[in-house]
Amino acid sequence: QGKQQGKNTYRFYTTDMESDITNNIRLKMELRNALEKNQFFIHYQPKVSLESEQIEGVEALLRWEHEELGLVSPNEFIPVIEETGMIHAIGEWILKTVCTQHKVWRDQGYPTLKVAVNLSPIQLKDPDIIEKITDILQETNMEPEWLEFEITETSLIENKKEATKILKKLRKMGIRIAIDDFGTGYSSLHLLKRLPVDILKIDRAFIQDNDDHAILESILEMAKKLQLTVVAEGVETKEQLDYLKDQYCQEAQGFFISHPLSKEKLESFVNAQLSREKSKYLKIC
Ligand code: C2E
Ligand code: MG
Ligand code: MG
Ligand code: MG
Repeated sequence: QGKQQGKNTYRFYTTDMESDITNNIRLKMELRNALEKNQFFIHYQPKVSLESEQIEGVEALLRWEHEELGLVSPNEFIPVIEETGMIHAIGEWILKTVCTQHKVWRDQGYPTLKVAVNLSPIQLKDPDIIEKITDILQETNMEPEWLEFEITETSLIENKKEATKILKKLRKMGIRIAIDDFGTGYSSLHLLKRLPVDILKIDRAFIQDNDDHAILESILEMAKKLQLTVVAEGVETKEQLDYLKDQYCQEAQGFFISHPLSKEKLESFVNAQLSREKSKYLKIC
């Protein structure tokens, strides 16, 4: 296509591609030792109930900070660790870290939050995935009831048979399954009914675009019929939050509620909510 637009366009296009390739090679190299160098950490984004406006749970989001490159976006480095297979080791590290942190919070007396971990489609192809997850939960004293896994709609469709088998096993263990970025793929109602899922996370595109409200409302209606919990992603304004409340959406997540937070900042977020509750109670007395 670049060729048809003349020589300059073509050259520009090539340079762009070259820099993409160089960038990819650099990332691959730097990621190789990232785990050993402790360059990964987890941020936690609160999820609130729209009825009570209380924090219900958090989504664990992987962060990578490199000494020269700085903080690299997961959208950039996750495809690289998937491609190289590093996602297996890093995925185990994520789950172990999150479950260990959850135990610390429980021991410190924080209210027990649900925690959602993103699972890569590559991890779903690992024949030992169930065993690995079982071991980590046992090792870290984590109840499966506190855990959710988020899987994107597209990864479910691409690998339907195998993925369905694994998700069924996870659910049997008591772990809830969420479809992430729902609406961006091509799940039909028919497919959704047969998939072993508990939660739909509606992609932020449908929350943020007013023209998509018809789609949003029909997703909510369908989810209700299938008895799925609905989480709205990417809530950035009060108007969006109020609208979702009107539509009886159950949960919301987004910058308006909170950005993803370091573990210390999440503790402050929870503490602030606890003291608000306490002061409400004192006023009533
Ligand atoms: P996701 O699982 O759909 O996560 C939500 C992403 O949206 C996060 O980006 C979050 O920071 C961002 N977000 C949350 N609220 C808002 C909002 O109100 N507005 C906007 N514009 N964005 C919002 P992040 O952390 O950069 O992650 C991007 C994607 O990378 C994730 O999408 C997920 O697919 C993947 N990812 C992140 N952490 C992990 C992980 O631990 N494992 C795996 N396999 N994938 C991960
Ligand atoms: Mg997610
Ligand atoms: Mg999402
Ligand atoms: Mg996403």
